[in-house]
Amino acid sequence: MEAGTAPRSRCLLDENTFTENFKNQINTRKTYLCYEVEIVDGDARVPLDEIKGFVHNKGANQPGEPCHAELYFLDRIHSWTLDRRLHYRLTCFISWTPCHTCAQELATFLGENSHVSLHIFASRMYRRFDYEAGLRRLQAAGAQIAIMTSKEFEHCWETFVDHQGRPFQPWDGLEVESQHLCKKLQEILQVRAPSCCFPGLPPSSPLLSSPCAFFLLSEPPLGDLLPPGAPAPSFPSFLMRSLYFLTCCVPPSFPIFVTLPRPPLGFCFILQMSHSLLPS
Ligand SMILES: [Zn+2]
Repeated sequence: MEAGTAPRSRCLLDENTFTENFKNQINTRKTYLCYEVEIVDGDARVPLDEIKGFVHNKGANQPGEPCHAELYFLDRIHSWTLDRRLHYRLTCFISWTPCHTCAQELATFLGENSHVSLHIFASRMYRRFDYEAGLRRLQAAGAQIAIMTSKEFEHCWETFVDHQGRPFQPWDGLEVESQHLCKKLQEILQVRAPSCCFPGLPPSSPLLSSPCAFFLLSEPPLGDLLPPGAPAPSFPSFLMRSLYFLTCCVPPSFPIFVTLPRPPLGFCFILQMSHSLLPS
């Protein structure tokens, strides 16, 4: 996988490459990913400057198999053989949010490496195929995902660009586009499971204080999740649809509880389900 990666000796991006690939109002076919690594020790963070750098994807117009930047990045991480007795914070500044496949790969990596936390700042949002589910899966695996603001662009300029002493010059509309993308990302990451059509959980529900409970609320309304003109599903169908939605948000190691309030009778009917029982 080394073919698509940048040299390791603190190679810097030239100014045009940075601007052309990270400018948040234009689309490019390439993906650049700048990364830095810190050791977390309590409240302190110690940067590891020797493994700071960047990778980029290899496109279909280049020799060999195409490969996304995130996979090169994972390859790099494995080559560092990070000490499992320490806690590492990896921060990525990436020109596109991860696609569904890369998000899954990163999520799997986080699931297998609890000594690593991942913070992603993206310049633009990649919106093809099942990208929303991928981002939610990645967030559920513990990754922090955000959109780059002028603060992160400037940090990248200072850290990864051969700027010859010139300061970062924000382009027109940087903040407007950043805020627009930020709002869009928040909508994707905060979307909750649809309603089970019951008028709320009783106050005495034991799940109200449980950290591993997702409440099936009425946002967005179930109807909004259906194709136009589709008939409302039966309750069992609706419940299975809701549970399928949850599997995108909840890591496999977490139990899933389903609470069906029965207001006329004044008690809850609680199920605990494993992912293996849920529809795929
Ligand atoms: Zn990808």
